Amino acid sequence: MDVLGNYKSAISARSTDKDILKKAQDGGIITTLFAYALEEGIIDGAIVAGPGNEPWKPEPMVVTTKAELLAAAGTRYTISPNISLIKEATRSYGLDRVGIVGTPCQIQATRKAQLYPIGMRDVDDKIALALGIFCMENLSYQALEAMVEDHCNQKMESVVKMDIGKGKFTVYTERGAVSQMPLKLIHKYVQPGCSVCLDYVANLADISSGSVGSPDGWSTVFVRSTKGNAVWDGAIAAGCFETKPIDQVKPGLDLVTKLATEKITKNQKNVDARKTIGLKADGTPKGLRNPYESP
Ligand SMILES: Cc1cc2nc3c(=O)[nH]c(=O)nc-3n(C[C@H](O)[C@H](O)[C@H](O)COP(=O)(O)OP(=O)(O)OC[C@H]3O[C@@H](n4cnc5c(N)ncnc54)[C@H](O)[C@@H]3O)c2cc1C
Ligand code: SF4
Repeated sequence: MDVLGNYKSAISARSTDKDILKKAQDGGIITTLFAYALEEGIIDGAIVAGPGNEPWKPEPMVVTTKAELLAAAGTRYTISPNISLIKEATRSYGLDRVGIVGTPCQIQATRKAQLYPIGMRDVDDKIALALGIFCMENLSYQALEAMVEDHCNQKMESVVKMDIGKGKFTVYTERGAVSQMPLKLIHKYVQPGCSVCLDYVANLADISSGSVGSPDGWSTVFVRSTKGNAVWDGAIAAGCFETKPIDQVKPGLDLVTKLATEKITKNQKNVDARKTIGLKADGTPKGLRNPYESP
């Protein structure tokens, strides 16, 4: 099995839009692609993780302008059920071409809704651009709060950015403080569902992206589908991104492959263990089956 999924090209890239880079988590790939797609009429709105009522608690949101996209840029390391708005986006918002960003599991759910549109009638052909973000694991809001306030000793409302990388969870505050905790302490907080997740790099997205593999401020991008390829080529032609060949950046795809392999190997053991306690991961309940392998 290819742990990186199928892709047409892999690139290291960052946005050329300075406003987006100021707000984005990494190279601003997601916000820039949605802004370009809105401008070009490829989508007429996107479902993103917007700011919620509590600090760093995301609220799924349908956005139709660049200003709204900017307000939702950056990573919130907790669950944002973006899928819950798919039907709403087409019905209440009346969108015919919907963009959606999500973690690998959310992109899987999007594809499932397209393939088996039970309760999602007339939605399948309206997903115009599905952008994936890499994901090793996710946290409940309470866990995130405990990490920021108890481990890093910072108030949630004073934090301007959170980041995971180089073995650390890091928070940056508005007053310029930087607090860190070792990533290994996060594991006890991880959502139980993440322990059987077999996708690190959003294999089913049109385009997926994450920081790992590329230098700071840049992103690793996998262009996966024919549709994703057309959008990426258009965005490049429009000057939306600076790019570098992935084999010319450090640490490059070797690190992405290593982390994806580690995640899948570890979690496959959990899937196998669940089979032995009668959760029937061996056939019918497809949730526990690796969707990239033949049954
Ligand atoms: C829980 C989690 C774990 C991650 N783990 C990794 C990792 O191990 N390695 C790695 O390289 N990258 C990881 N990422 C992805 C990384 O943090 C960035 O989101 C990604 O690189 C995109 O950055 P960008 O600058 O291109 O996006 P931006 O232009 O900043 O846009 C990010 C988009 O993602 C949306 N978003 C933010 N939070 C969430 C969320 N919780 N759920 C769904 N959508 C959201 C925003 O609304 C925005 O539209 C993780 C992200 C999350 C949410
Ligand atoms: S680890 Fe997997 S299941 Fe957990 S949030 Fe990330 S993609 Fe979803």
